[in-house]
Amino acid sequence: MAHKQDKCSFCGRSESEVPLLLSGINGYICSDCAMQAYNIVQENMGVKASRSSNDFGLNDVPKPKQIKEYLDQYVIGQEDAKRYLSVSVYNHYKRLGQKKEDDGVEIEKSNVIMVGSTGTGKTLLARTIANLLKVPFTIVDATVFTEAGYVGEDVESILSRLLQVADYDVRAAERGIVFIDEIDKIARKSDNPSITRDVSGEGVQQGLLKLLEGAKVNVPPKGGRKHPDQDYIEVDTRNILFICGGAFDGIEKKIAQRLNTHVVGYNSVQNKQKIDSKNLMKYIVPQDLKSFGLIPEIIGRLPVLTYLNPLDRTALRNILTEPKNSLVKQQIKLFEMDGIKLTFEPEALEYMVDKAVEYKLGARGLRSIMEAVMIDAQYDAPSGRVKKFVVTEEYARKQIEKSHRLIA
Ligand code: ADP
Repeated sequence: MAHKQDKCSFCGRSESEVPLLLSGINGYICSDCAMQAYNIVQENMGVKASRSSNDFGLNDVPKPKQIKEYLDQYVIGQEDAKRYLSVSVYNHYKRLGQKKEDDGVEIEKSNVIMVGSTGTGKTLLARTIANLLKVPFTIVDATVFTEAGYVGEDVESILSRLLQVADYDVRAAERGIVFIDEIDKIARKSDNPSITRDVSGEGVQQGLLKLLEGAKVNVPPKGGRKHPDQDYIEVDTRNILFICGGAFDGIEKKIAQRLNTHVVGYNSVQNKQKIDSKNLMKYIVPQDLKSFGLIPEIIGRLPVLTYLNPLDRTALRNILTEPKNSLVKQQIKLFEMDGIKLTFEPEALEYMVDKAVEYKLGARGLRSIMEAVMIDAQYDAPSGRVKKFVVTEEYARKQIEKSHRLIA
């Protein structure tokens, strides 16, 4: 406890002259000096932190195999996409750690594009990678962007979000990862480039191109529209890794067309036999993205192209139980918190998968189906006396039939 005659050992003022005087073993500090000291510490430590996080030692970075193993814990299947992503992310770190050498070999950025139907795990992959990595990461939806001058957000707002998650540490944001979802929605609506102005399509692609290529961009810190009175923060996008995702509905037709024209003629019979017509997505090449309406410059800036498989019954069944935070594990945990042991009979799970297939909602549907099945039990169980609850097929069926709502 400080007394009237005690003085701050830093500024020399007495207790009556300062808001608060704190005593230590051998001296005192006033609240003003403490605040100042705090700021100085912050400043110095902050600079150190961002410096050290920029100097990557590859030893600290998970290897592609480790990245994939991590993804395997949360995402079912999608082997190709996992491998491509793991390698791209690892190379991203290599790039960041790259020292200027005289040999002139500079590792180029490998932005990624993932093509696959909705609900097959694109966002989940991106999110899971983000959890593993220690770089700023943000997910943006391409549909909110419009060409400058139109209603909507400027593409620069992508960087505003990255800055926000990086706590406005520009250097950290400049080596972050951005996941741009629904990239297919900004495809040119027509193959004819001379068509009248396409507000949400080609103009946005052009804007995006600048970011993907690597440019110094003036970013409005708060996002949204650029405003003449606003202060801007300059962000260099050269080292930001962009991962794009899109469903590209109907692209299979373009792939089929291309494959058909190619297999005609020499060796045609042999080639045709090899084609898995149920999953044409795996044959995707950059040319198909162009046919779909992405401009060649954008395609050129997304050199790593990979695809996601549609989820079949087995995949859906595994998604219910296998991932580290699977729907079933989450339910069990919820009941455990009330001291109740919850179990699902295998037939009940099969039934839920049947419903997901029937509703054609893929993995996304599983969640709503699970909620519909469990709602009554979740409502009643906490105030009941039972210590055990078993979800049978009959119970699941009764619950689904009872919930007249359209499950979406
Ligand atoms: P997309 O981005 O491809 O439209 P999401 O990644 O958002 O799809 O998937 C929606 C939800 O479905 C996820 O949150 C997850 O619960 C589940 N899901 C989808 N695909 C998978 C998968 N391959 N493995 C595990 N869960 C999945």
